[in-house]
Amino acid sequence: MPLEDNLITCDLVCSGVASPMAWRSYLRYLERHYGELETYEHRPKSFGGKHGSRLPERARFKDGTMAQGAARTKTWSKAYVGRWSLRPTCHDCPFHSMERPADITIGDFWGLSALGGVNEDEGVTLVLQNSRRAEVSRLVEALLSVSRWQEYPANAACNPSQPRLASSPEPNKVRGIFLRGVARAGFGTGFYLALAVAGVRRMLRQNGKNADPALLGKEPVMPPAAGSDSGAKRLQNRLVATKGDCYGCGACVNVCPKGAIRMREDAEGFAYPVIDDDACVSCGLCNKACPRSHGGDIPVERASVAYAVQIEDRERFSKSSSGGAFWGLASRVLLDGGVVYGVAFGDGNVPVHVRCSTASQAMRCMGSKYAQSDVGECYGSVLQDLRAGRKVLFTGTPCQVAALERYVEQAT
Ligand SMILES: Cc1cc2nc3c(=O)[nH]c(=O)nc-3n(C[C@H](O)[C@H](O)[C@H](O)COP(=O)(O)OP(=O)(O)OC[C@H]3O[C@@H](n4cnc5c(N)ncnc54)[C@H](O)[C@@H]3O)c2cc1C
Ligand code: SF4
Ligand code: SF4
Ligand code: SF4
Repeated sequence: MPLEDNLITCDLVCSGVASPMAWRSYLRYLERHYGELETYEHRPKSFGGKHGSRLPERARFKDGTMAQGAARTKTWSKAYVGRWSLRPTCHDCPFHSMERPADITIGDFWGLSALGGVNEDEGVTLVLQNSRRAEVSRLVEALLSVSRWQEYPANAACNPSQPRLASSPEPNKVRGIFLRGVARAGFGTGFYLALAVAGVRRMLRQNGKNADPALLGKEPVMPPAAGSDSGAKRLQNRLVATKGDCYGCGACVNVCPKGAIRMREDAEGFAYPVIDDDACVSCGLCNKACPRSHGGDIPVERASVAYAVQIEDRERFSKSSSGGAFWGLASRVLLDGGVVYGVAFGDGNVPVHVRCSTASQAMRCMGSKYAQSDVGECYGSVLQDLRAGRKVLFTGTPCQVAALERYVEQAT
């Protein structure tokens, strides 16, 4: 049996990932004001007696206090939703479409009430079964068997309330001011500086000095200064000339047989690969695995129906961002003896991709985290699991799913 038959991929309807540097700076900003952070939730399902999936961000601190709906905890979502903090490629991304690289797509079923369904603000997952493979159909049927669900024509999901199935988010003109401000002076200063500039721009209706959308992503990726890394004498950015050439997905790092590639953060806090020329043997595998430079070779599929899903397990539903479909899929794979890959908050509450073989590990992946995750060595680990004959469910952004698919193709 081909290795890929045991792999099921699940991507998200994706509005982009925020700078990990800005995220870390935001957490430090909160800690300066409130004390040491314990946990963070982007979309908790309760707030002051209200329940739903559009409630304000919640931070819990080690001294037992909590901040939710406060001016400071609103700053992150304002910057994220305002498109101040996204990776350059998110503004020019081929995956804002109904043509999907993953077997299954999950997202919020925004626009559901206009179709006569329940109020989507309660939290309803949109599930698109893109692949007709028997394994995928079995998994989606298992999800539906533990859920309340309704079926619609797939095109109904691509409605005006759900723009990220049709087009990329426009960059905000204060994006550069925000990210540079955060890098130089910390989150609070960067945020209020960008807010002030946005206000003045609105008042004067003038063009900002910065972040011309036409230039975004065209900036060169600068190699680190010579001698900046004691273990690598000559570091190059041969793989990516400009920031728009790279998703930061890490497929190249995972595939390199010589361990010659590392990810380095640029001034905006996004990671790009650098190659140690002394270790590189010019095999070309990194280039072949790259989903950005081989975009046209990535197979995509399109669902014919859209499911609106809420899992019946209310405890797990309350921990999810939408309707809990991720848990319905993940728990089935785990029960069948498989493993699940997803994004959890790791050390310091930073989003990382993790391998889960137990329910408690997979529960850490529930809920959206809006900064870009560090994939680490997960693609290699997926391959090991597939070679060991295990069923694998990999969840992530569409570019991470495309990266895994190219990685598996090149590495086998
Ligand atoms: C960065 C980001 C942007 C999104 N943008 C949209 C959007 O514009 N429109 C829309 O309809 N839906 C969007 N979603 C999806 C939505 O927020 C829910 O994740 C989705 O509806 C599934 O919800 P659920 O209740 O079924 O599962 P949940 O329990 O909420 O499951 C969360 C799933 O998201 C994965 N995940 C969490 N954080 C990340 C991350 N940083 N990178 C990669 N994977 C992650 C987990 O591995 C898990 O598979 C986005 C999600 C993320 C992470
Ligand atoms: S798929 Fe990747 S590049 Fe596209 S918006 Fe999501 S994170 Fe950004
Ligand atoms: S060409 Fe081969 S050895 Fe060199 S960095 Fe790429 S994958 Fe590694
Ligand atoms: S494989 Fe991913 S991280 Fe590496 S260059 Fe390509 S897009 Fe960037």
